[in-house]
Amino acid sequence: MKIDTDVLVVGGGIVGAGIFRDLALHGVNVLLVEQNSFGSQTSSRSSKMLHGGLRYLETFEFSLVREALKEKNLWKELAPNLCREEQFFLPIYKDSKYPLFMTGIALAIYDLLSSFRNKPFKIIGKTEALKRMPSLNPIGLKGCGIYHDVVVDDEALTTGIISSATKTCKKASAKEFHSLVSLSKTKTGLSAIIKQMHTGENISVSAKEVVIAVGPFLDHLMHQLNFVPWEDKLLPSKGIHIWLKRDTLNIEHPAVLQSADGRVIFVIPYPDKILIGTTEDPVSWPYQDIKATDDEIEYLLSNIKEYFTGDNISAKSILSTYAGVRPLVAEGGGSDRGKTSREHMVFMPTHNVHAIAGGKLTTFRTMGQSISKTIVERMGLIYSQRKTILPL
Ligand SMILES: Cc1cc2nc3c(=O)[nH]c(=O)nc-3n(C[C@H](O)[C@H](O)[C@H](O)COP(=O)(O)OP(=O)(O)OC[C@H]3O[C@@H](n4cnc5c(N)ncnc54)[C@H](O)[C@@H]3O)c2cc1C
Repeated sequence: MKIDTDVLVVGGGIVGAGIFRDLALHGVNVLLVEQNSFGSQTSSRSSKMLHGGLRYLETFEFSLVREALKEKNLWKELAPNLCREEQFFLPIYKDSKYPLFMTGIALAIYDLLSSFRNKPFKIIGKTEALKRMPSLNPIGLKGCGIYHDVVVDDEALTTGIISSATKTCKKASAKEFHSLVSLSKTKTGLSAIIKQMHTGENISVSAKEVVIAVGPFLDHLMHQLNFVPWEDKLLPSKGIHIWLKRDTLNIEHPAVLQSADGRVIFVIPYPDKILIGTTEDPVSWPYQDIKATDDEIEYLLSNIKEYFTGDNISAKSILSTYAGVRPLVAEGGGSDRGKTSREHMVFMPTHNVHAIAGGKLTTFRTMGQSISKTIVERMGLIYSQRKTILPL
């Protein structure tokens, strides 16, 4: 089989989905291929939040926080069926890194950076905090900061973005279980071989431009393709989550906990279960189907036990676990994954091959816009950001 397209997008996670939709909404002839099912890798293994990232204020990443808050508040409007705005409780103790008044300043900056589109933050004292979260450890508790972020169905957002593109644009098509296995230059553009993962059939695709949006798989794929010399760009970071039985914790709202080693742990209640995450650890290839280890699970359980002393938490409370790999972009040889920026990076190994990695679920719409704009203009069309602000 042979396919001719203007643009081939490789990777059906949220980033590839966002670029695919952007190009489709501009009328570009575009094909998306994903080697697994859409959204099955990192984009379904996140903490499932659209958020500015309160902790990035610590590293003064104000522009990242501002952009993420703008996107969070936008998607709350564009995809209300997939998003749930929540009050996040940040318990503050006598020995917390930041006292209650500094938490108030940070939350005020957070709301300011949202151009006051966030619902306003609040600071509550110990008595009110224990009334609203009765099983919180009362010893040393000073109160809570309360701010607003969004809980999202990450996988449904990814598949929704892809299907909204194929439904609205005749020139856009998307294939699951199709893997890019080779890429070469031709006189007129690029030639790719795509393998159908179930039948093993090879499909030859010719394209003018190729976008590689394979998240944590970027370095592996670029070495495998051997299309251009490639130095590793990523500092992959494993994060795990556990789903607990709903009656394990007596909470009605998400809580944001600070672990002893300085990490942030989210506790997010759903109607029928509770999500706890996450960790940040080195990980080695292969990244598909990675699992949470016993040590990682124990780390999360022991941390929440310290906060929720009024509840009976044990390994028996666990319904299931999952793990994912953050496609962080390495910065100047640093190896601290928690401190590595969540900014994205775009690479152009040749003038018509665009590769992207890093970023966050929250910022997927804007991450790939520089790539989409370049391609749309090369196709002789006019790029308009406004086209991407279309409800799902
Ligand atoms: C533990 C954890 C918690 C997180 N929490 C949040 C959060 O709460 N909020 C937030 O904003 N962000 C969060 N993130 C970050 C966010 O999830 C990621 O930045 C985002 O999902 C990455 O999307 P992606 O499309 O780049 O990668 P992926 O979702 O991994 O997509 C890449 C796709 O490329 C495909 N692929 C690879 N090779 C090929 C090939 N040869 N041919 C075809 N397809 C190929 C893969 O199968 C995969 O589906 C979290 C990440 C982790 C790991």
